[in-house]
Amino acid sequence: QAKKAGRNTLSFFDPAIQARVQARARLEADLRQALPRGQLRLHYQRQVDADARVCGLEALLRWQHPERGMVSPGEFIPLAEESRLIIAIGDWALEATCRQLARWAGEPAMAGLTVSVNVSPQQFHEPDFVEQVEAILARTGAPARRLKLEVTETLFVHDRDDARDKMLRLKAQGVTFALDDFGTGYSSLAYLKRLPLDQLKIDQSFVHDLLEEEASAAIVASTIALAESLGLEVIAEGVETEAQRAWLTTHGCQAFQGYLFGRPVPASELMIAVA
Ligand code: C2E
Ligand code: MG
Ligand code: MG
Ligand code: MG
Repeated sequence: QAKKAGRNTLSFFDPAIQARVQARARLEADLRQALPRGQLRLHYQRQVDADARVCGLEALLRWQHPERGMVSPGEFIPLAEESRLIIAIGDWALEATCRQLARWAGEPAMAGLTVSVNVSPQQFHEPDFVEQVEAILARTGAPARRLKLEVTETLFVHDRDDARDKMLRLKAQGVTFALDDFGTGYSSLAYLKRLPLDQLKIDQSFVHDLLEEEASAAIVASTIALAESLGLEVIAEGVETEAQRAWLTTHGCQAFQGYLFGRPVPASELMIAVA
């Protein structure tokens, strides 16, 4: 009996777990301060066409933590989602992207580029999300047709009609939509024909395994074919090698994003030649 209780006590007050819970709580408290203290930044990663010409950019959040240095979105986005901080953070990212888009509208090398920004489901399902985007576009003067919103399949798991309705209202303004991390979610393919999407983004995990694993190659080839038959653009994410790019090109993919073409960098470090 004593032994049993001891074991329960042990698992309940496991110092390793407790330390992890505390570290998380601290990080969440810090994240709450990140926006007011101006610690968030956007980096931009280029997207290129078959001729390696830049055709778009993706805005990606960075958190410059005062003690930890750069904290990656893989670490703080899940935390932001659990604490609902993602709504304020996502709105900030959207507004910062639009401010940058408006600046670029006056530069010949940049004016034609579409900039994608990631939108989390919580942010999208806010009742006034469409009005928020409209207000941001009006405030910044960014051209709506240059703004692409990246959503994931999880957006369509709950309240799919709400998502569709909002997409249609935003599309009427000129905003376009990409489906990010395609193939990694749970939803059925049926939604693809009902939603006003413009682009499918092949998830980087499939691209990564493309040349080593038949299943990944099959998934990528089918995604490219699916996009084509549905009239959607397709872009491969996480392209790191020339061999991957060549395989993708052979299979009909015309747009690429990945370290092979450039890492995400601050706007000031983007070097893009006039086409
Ligand atoms: P994502 O939207 O799928 O973005 C692509 C991620 O792949 C980025 O990671 C990018 O830096 C990384 N990447 C690009 N090329 C390569 C490559 O060749 N190899 C490898 N290994 N990785 C590559 P990052 O910047 O760490 O962002 C991670 C995720 O965080 C994003 O995945 C997105 O889901 C989320 N995220 C970033 N910014 C935002 C934002 O403003 N709002 C929301 N809601 N989520 C964001
Ligand atoms: Mg993305
Ligand atoms: Mg992705
Ligand atoms: Mg992702």
